[in-house]
Amino acid sequence: MSDKLLVVGEVRDNEIRNVSFEAIAAAKQIDSEAEIVGVLCGDNDLTSAGNDLITYGADSVITVTHDNLKTYTSEGYGQALLEVIDELSPKGIVMGHTAIGKDLTPKIASRLSAGLISDVVAIEKEGDENVFIRPIYSGKAFEKKTFEDDFIFVTVRPNNIAVLEKDDSRSGEVRTKDVDIKDLRTIVKDVVRKAADGVDLAEANVIVAGGRGVKSADGFKPLYELADVLGGAVGASRGACDADYCDYALQIGQTGKVVTPDLYIAVGISGAIQHLAGMSNSKVIVAINKDAESNIFNVADYGIVGDLFEIIPLLIEEIKKVKE
Ligand code: FAD
Repeated sequence: MSDKLLVVGEVRDNEIRNVSFEAIAAAKQIDSEAEIVGVLCGDNDLTSAGNDLITYGADSVITVTHDNLKTYTSEGYGQALLEVIDELSPKGIVMGHTAIGKDLTPKIASRLSAGLISDVVAIEKEGDENVFIRPIYSGKAFEKKTFEDDFIFVTVRPNNIAVLEKDDSRSGEVRTKDVDIKDLRTIVKDVVRKAADGVDLAEANVIVAGGRGVKSADGFKPLYELADVLGGAVGASRGACDADYCDYALQIGQTGKVVTPDLYIAVGISGAIQHLAGMSNSKVIVAINKDAESNIFNVADYGIVGDLFEIIPLLIEEIKKVKE
């Protein structure tokens, strides 16, 4: 085993996803002396994205480009990654706990006969040992886990591990590795995007989420405006999605997305346990609800009791004033 830690980065629309930088920071926490090697897969030149990984702490980057890596498939990315692992024999792998990370890492772990600790939100040291902390029971408790053997394989939940400071003076090799990605049993023909443009919900620092209390698709418009002035994204409860006020891509909760933004504003959401499962680990929670007895206030750091249709415009106005 080498002294290398492999960080699997993700590129979307030619931009590195922020969680890739967080994965580098996690790798540094695991072993500050290790050589951090980033790996990126795609179908076009990834040199610029590779250099971004270097400025955020990677020592070198391997890019694997192939027509069959245009869109993610576990077979294609799996072949690429296994070849890189075969070449480097890293002592560990770190990746974001994203849709791709969740799908790919168990398959790689199984091929390597390695353990995998997924959805890590923090790393602690006990002596020389790394202890990985992850939420369980829909975020109601945390468990601490370690690896039985020396090989470390973790996915990190977006927005939980602070990225290292960007350092443009850092340099490192970004090289392309030729891998023949072949014999894919599934081919992605086309990707039809459902979610609206804007800030990615999973990585947003601020989320304004609407519930059934918002009452209509039109009622969501002020929430979009509030999210916009705060540089955030809009999310929703399942109640709002079921009522067709917004797309299911926005659903947060047990059967939706799990998010941990710095600020979560729950608007007209009652705080059902299934909703809390997706947002209760947010750093600061603000709840706006006309019912003072609503369960959402039990997890909120700040609560505003009142009519959302009066409160949201006032908030937008005040935030705009502060920003001027
Ligand atoms: P409601 O419970 O109807 O709450 C609406 C709130 O709006 C109320 O508290 C009300 O006081 C307030 N309100 C109304 N008008 C105003 C106003 N003018 N101003 C201010 N406040 C107002 N839910 C999820 O969210 N995510 C999930 O992933 C999810 N998964 C589920 C999985 C399963 C297996 C099951 C059984 C359920 C799941 N649910 C999930 C559904 C969940 O149980 C709740 O039904 C849902 O979260 C309720 O949505 P809501 O809070 O928007 O609606």
